[in-house]
Amino acid sequence: MSMNIRNIDHHIAGLPAANTSGRTQDVTNPATGAVTGKVGLADGHQVSAAVAAAQAAFPAWADTPPIRRARVMFKFLDLLNQHKDELAHLITAEHGKVFTDAQGEVSRGIDIVEFACGIPQLLKGDFTDQVSTGIDNWTLRQPLGVVAGITPFNFPVMVPMWMFPVAIAAGNTFVLKPSPTDPSPSLRIAELFKQAGLPDGVFNVVQGDKVAVDALLEHPDVKAISFVGSTPIANYIYETGARHGKRVQALGGAKNHMVVMPDADIDQTVDALIGAGYGSAGERCMAISVAVLVGDVADKVIPKLIERAKTLKVLNGTNLAAEMGPIVTRAAHERITGYIAQGEKEGAKLLVDGRSFDGSVAGEGCGDGFWMGGTLFDHVTPEMRIYKEEIFGPVLSCVRVDNFKDAVDLINAHEFGNGVSCFTRDGNVAREFSRRIQVGMVGINVPIPVPMAWHGFGGWKKSLFGDMHAYGEEGVRFYTKQKSIMQRWPESIGKGAEFVMPTAK
Ligand code: NAD
Repeated sequence: MSMNIRNIDHHIAGLPAANTSGRTQDVTNPATGAVTGKVGLADGHQVSAAVAAAQAAFPAWADTPPIRRARVMFKFLDLLNQHKDELAHLITAEHGKVFTDAQGEVSRGIDIVEFACGIPQLLKGDFTDQVSTGIDNWTLRQPLGVVAGITPFNFPVMVPMWMFPVAIAAGNTFVLKPSPTDPSPSLRIAELFKQAGLPDGVFNVVQGDKVAVDALLEHPDVKAISFVGSTPIANYIYETGARHGKRVQALGGAKNHMVVMPDADIDQTVDALIGAGYGSAGERCMAISVAVLVGDVADKVIPKLIERAKTLKVLNGTNLAAEMGPIVTRAAHERITGYIAQGEKEGAKLLVDGRSFDGSVAGEGCGDGFWMGGTLFDHVTPEMRIYKEEIFGPVLSCVRVDNFKDAVDLINAHEFGNGVSCFTRDGNVAREFSRRIQVGMVGINVPIPVPMAWHGFGGWKKSLFGDMHAYGEEGVRFYTKQKSIMQRWPESIGKGAEFVMPTAK
């Protein structure tokens, strides 16, 4: 093996663990196309070892007072802030997104760690004095045990941090199965967490693919699964996890629309569409992939979109001038170019064709990377595959509608319901939009309305399987079970057995 190809393996019971399955997958730098690592793909034995480590660590961690667990989180928070740029570099090297965007990703993950530092307050129960004479009743929330997180390639730091800080602060122990496409940041996070004083076995990382995922889904000691990824896999995780008696939250794919009303500020709208459509090469679950242009606004917006899409600064993500980096993998590049060809075939009007972008202009050594420019389609209609399916790349589709009602009906008929946005200056339109739209996260003049740490993240319809959103108080509820305790003391106990339903006396 060449000197600069690293083995990227697991972190189990507080220590690095070499892969034992004999199976690996290449990790590439998307900007150059070079293989930089070999990620180990865990088999069932190694997954069992991680679950056993987490199971062994659970009783003591669950018994640790929440304030002491919070102190470890505070230390971890401090270390994350110190190593923020290092984590961002790891993201850019394996995902390809531009460095400043990677820094933003790390910050949004850190927000959740800050939230989790408040766990003593979040776990506070309810108490009712004197529910009946001499009897009190209270509820408390207790951790579940070993919980697992299965995460996508597109946010290798932030999405795991939607899960494990809340789960661990609440007293659970955790097994993370990151995406094998960009596996390095999770291992660095595990080291920092250990350095913060986290007991061994509380946070484990197993790298892998479907084999590792299935082992987690079937393992009797895994009590809950949090998943973020594409809709078909989310559906599979939800059904399989439920069949094995687990609590499951599975966040899926998206097709996010942005409605532009005729009264919207045109320059703000164009900025928003360009940033939200092409930022992170469109590989965000909250990226805007459809612009819904109402009435005559299309003729004002489209010429500006063309100009901006053609002049996007598509560069190696390490270049601080870059607005967009490469596509994550060759396979993703092929899928996206296939959709562009499909859109042309279906009769959409191709205004800017990102396939013509030449990688060698992206920077030294970038010619073999997975390069593509921004693509813009007009006259896209709801029957087209490029409208119905998630492309997950830098392709923005414009759909023209006559009025506000048609815009709302269009969006509500779509199978996905992750994020949505409406640009307008009319307060009543904004209010009606937020109330009527069948989507979990709504922005009013905000293109990517990712909720803050204490609000919780989740889509509707095929964008989320399960009952609870990620992080925020929903996250605390997901990772704990409620217990109700009713007590009385001997002095207050009445005489004789009671055979009827007790009522307040
Ligand atoms: P993916 O579904 O291919 O993979 C997600 C995870 O599932 C990975 O850990 C992967 O190893 C595992 N996996 C893949 N195939 C599997 C299989 N057959 N059986 C079991 N496990 C399997 O998703 P991705 O390409 O890594 O990420 C992009 C997708 O994630 C997009 O669809 C995007 O919309 C979605 N996403 C959604 C959200 C959200 O909050 N709703 C956030 C980020 C990404």
